[in-house]
Amino acid sequence: MMTDRNDDLFSAARAVTPGGVNSPVRAYGSVGGTPRFLASARGAYVTDAGGQEYVDLVASWGPALLGHAHPAVVSAVQEAATRGLSFGAPTEGEVDLARLITERVRLGDLAPVERVRLVSTGTEATMTAIRLARGATGRDLLIKFAGHYHGHSDGLLAEAGSGVATLALPGSAGVPAPIAAQTLVLPYNDREALEAVFAERGDQIAAVIVEAASANMGVVAPDPGFNRFIADTAHAHGALMILDEVLTGFRVHHAGFWALQAATGEEYLPDIITFGKVVGGGMPLAALGGRAEVMDLLAPTGPVYQAGTLSGNPLSVAAGLATLRLATPAVYARVDAAAARIANALDAALTDAGVVHAIPRAGNLFGLVFAPQAPRTYAEAQAQESFRYAPFFHAMREQHVALPPSVFEAWFLTAAHDDEALGRIEAALPAAARAAASA
Ligand code: PMP
Repeated sequence: MMTDRNDDLFSAARAVTPGGVNSPVRAYGSVGGTPRFLASARGAYVTDAGGQEYVDLVASWGPALLGHAHPAVVSAVQEAATRGLSFGAPTEGEVDLARLITERVRLGDLAPVERVRLVSTGTEATMTAIRLARGATGRDLLIKFAGHYHGHSDGLLAEAGSGVATLALPGSAGVPAPIAAQTLVLPYNDREALEAVFAERGDQIAAVIVEAASANMGVVAPDPGFNRFIADTAHAHGALMILDEVLTGFRVHHAGFWALQAATGEEYLPDIITFGKVVGGGMPLAALGGRAEVMDLLAPTGPVYQAGTLSGNPLSVAAGLATLRLATPAVYARVDAAAARIANALDAALTDAGVVHAIPRAGNLFGLVFAPQAPRTYAEAQAQESFRYAPFFHAMREQHVALPPSVFEAWFLTAAHDDEALGRIEAALPAAARAAASA
């Protein structure tokens, strides 16, 4: 049998890297087959090692808001590279980016981010946010929601989404039981469960961490009022609310999902917000931000330690600055419209093929669920006919559309998805829907 370059690379990769990948979901564990090794990406398209081009709906799992390799972002990085790759000293760009984040994450009088610390990954941002919340409150317990993913630090892997959900793992080996015991996992969108745990252990809870809109168990939007309820309940007990906008921040709205909610009447003030993905424009960069009095507890002003050799890396900062400056309201309008068009086409194709499905949405994020209703919890997200996704995914791939290789992930549109790219996705959907129907 003839193999292609992707097969050759995958066998070579497996010999030197666990599972052949540097992040688990890339291995196609739940859909089967050989992952595409990507050689290049531009705009709405990616090209694999065999030279095949695909319309991309992964967008590097979110960062590529403007599309891949936007010329202005690439030249900002190239220009920064000529001045040095890493200094381990503060730079002007870091001031500009922190200021830009504080200015953007504001809506009228609501300004939850006064100070920003730049880090390199979303995992570091949430890990630091939790240490900060514990330092601020002198308490140890953390509440997270089942199916939410906040990166791979020890305390956050219990009933996590993303790859942990795709591989159907309860958590991770290697996490000491006493550390796991500091995280209380609650069902999402369940006010009673939150109230009950605060009533019982409220004086020991440092923080509640929540994805602004959950997008790592598929897309599961917060019930109206749920995020505000978290803020109110946490604050009533002296705990902090950590809003994880690593995925949603600067993607669903120019100021984040909390601002999208505030604009529609649901106002609340998170104490710490984490950012990643779009904020680094495709380079390794993430951030956490909050009120000055909380953020100043970080070293060197405060007792909560956090550091990083590559934190605020000048190339990453250049990419983030260029991306945010280009991410105008017109860009969000374009991404919103592209997402709505594809979500509607997906809905129509599955309906025509007679496939039981729902297309849950949160802002411009949407996903696909093989169940009659959009789920509200992780248990509901898991109770779907997920076996229909592999044939759907492969039928799309055969028609040169690259989807996330798991039903528990959102589909990502970009501002570079023009009529041509969107038309190609729409044209591929009916055959994929029929493949899902006959699974
Ligand atoms: N939080 C959320 C909501 C995420 O979606 C992710 C990554 N998908 C992370 C945190 C972790 O970010 P990273 O992969 O950069 O460590």
